[in-house]
Amino acid sequence: MRFNSISPQATSEVASKILDTLKPNSKATVLALSGDLGAGKTTLTKGFANALGILDIVNSPTFNILKKYSVPDNKLFKHLVHIDAYRLANSHDLISIGFSDLIRDPSNLIIIEWPERVVEILPPETLNIQINHIDIDTREIILRD
Ligand code: ADP
Ligand code: MG
Repeated sequence: MRFNSISPQATSEVASKILDTLKPNSKATVLALSGDLGAGKTTLTKGFANALGILDIVNSPTFNILKKYSVPDNKLFKHLVHIDAYRLANSHDLISIGFSDLIRDPSNLIIIEWPERVVEILPPETLNIQINHIDIDTREIILRD
């Protein structure tokens, strides 16, 4: 799937379209968001939070590495886990903050910015999403298998 987004709002709306395609899984659903700084990874994550009805403000968790939000109501997912791997040295850092347990829980939707940092511990079913900066307001969002 490929989307052309002309605004941050449009990028948020792409999240709800992606969410509609997700099916129940026996483990957590992991979305790996790739793209340069300012591409729109956090903006897309806010779109997922919004589509799930999360009212908390979702910001870049760069200084916390990981933030877990509760999803209200009984949706496909009970938690949104937002990880920003930018400052991680390697995969061990993510394991040390509980990643192994998080990926075992099918009620978690896990979104990872800068997945390249931890690629060796991502499950094979990870859905890769690439965001390309086209111009100041335009982004191309591509879902890869
Ligand atoms: P990242 O997390 O990839 O570093 P952010 O989502 O934090 O990126 O920032 C994206 C920036 O680009 C924001 O300032 C946002 O307002 C701007 N922007 C402009 N057009 C778009 C668009 N179509 N989609 C997403 N962000 C956009
Ligand atoms: Mg970000």
